[in-house]
Amino acid sequence: MSRQGLLPAPGPGGSGRGAAPSREQGAMCVWGYAARKLNDVGKAPDKEPLVSTVPNVTLNNGAVMPQLGFGVFLVPDDEAYTAVAHALQAGYRSIDTAALYKNEVGTGRAIADSGLPREEVFITTKVWNTEQGYDSALRAFDASLDKLGTEYVDLYLIHWPAPALDRYVDTWKAFEKIYAEGRAKAIGVSNFLPVHLRRLFDESGIVPAVNQVELHPRLQQEEVRLFDAEHGIATEAWSPLGRGSQGNGVLGDPVITNAAAKYGVTPAQVVLRWHLQIGNVVIPKSVTPSRIKENIDVFGFELEAGDLAAIARLETGERVGPHPEEKN
Ligand code: NAP
Repeated sequence: MSRQGLLPAPGPGGSGRGAAPSREQGAMCVWGYAARKLNDVGKAPDKEPLVSTVPNVTLNNGAVMPQLGFGVFLVPDDEAYTAVAHALQAGYRSIDTAALYKNEVGTGRAIADSGLPREEVFITTKVWNTEQGYDSALRAFDASLDKLGTEYVDLYLIHWPAPALDRYVDTWKAFEKIYAEGRAKAIGVSNFLPVHLRRLFDESGIVPAVNQVELHPRLQQEEVRLFDAEHGIATEAWSPLGRGSQGNGVLGDPVITNAAAKYGVTPAQVVLRWHLQIGNVVIPKSVTPSRIKENIDVFGFELEAGDLAAIARLETGERVGPHPEEKN
């Protein structure tokens, strides 16, 4: 099994499964990311370049992905247009959508209307469970490209393993074809446990580049993170804020609010900073312009080791979404 080795230039240390992961594969290589500043939402980009502080991670095939991006789950299509436009204006260059979200059209239009060159925006979408299977996944991918109005995505994910359907291996084979054709620059999975990943390793040819899982201070996914790192898979955190006030209330935990007071930042910024410092890719969602800005303004401070340790103790195993074995 290769690490998406069909591309000519594998990433740092890109070798077969089983090889000892290099430091870059485990912790992921990070460097500065140049982004252009936009004027007002929907208007042409400013001429003055602005260096954004969002670092990139290098995936196991050499593709680079911003470590902090923007999610649009539960955002209707027209609102997604506005939210994504605000996010791009604020400096985000990675957008996470899915066929399920029914907002690929608005998301794609906002990216096109931003005036940013396509290659400056990292687009992720996902195949929904009902479209799993070889032929249906290929069709679903074409439909997503069409809605997004793009010729390729940067990352295509299997949304859930849906083990009772037992189609994720066939789906992955379709993903390998899409990848070989260059229509997805990287392919990965979401909500996969080590047991599902091991089966992919045994029955297919490419190691996923990314595993996007529910991950926040109440559900830190240590086993998944370790397994991913051992196999050169980047772990991406969904519901990184524990879904804010709609979710598990982690933003109100005294450990988080005390740290926020100590650093003079907000609880959400503390949690996002924790993700970044432990090496996760994060995709916070907001439709609130001030929060969209707040959530990317997390590069001017660093949590001390004692604060990271205190957050590590907030694990309760509490989920805001379903368990991967149960979602079909
Ligand atoms: P989240 O990002 O953890 O939380 C979003 C919630 O927090 C919203 O209610 C938002 O409110 C609020 N919020 C955002 N910024 C805040 C701030 N600075 N202070 C206080 N509250 C804040 O949850 P999520 O949307 O579930 O997850 C993020 C992304 O992950 C999704 O959008 C999606 O792209 C992806 N995802 C993937 C899966 C999967 O199965 N692969 C599942 C779920 C999500 P407002 O919007 O009202 O500002």
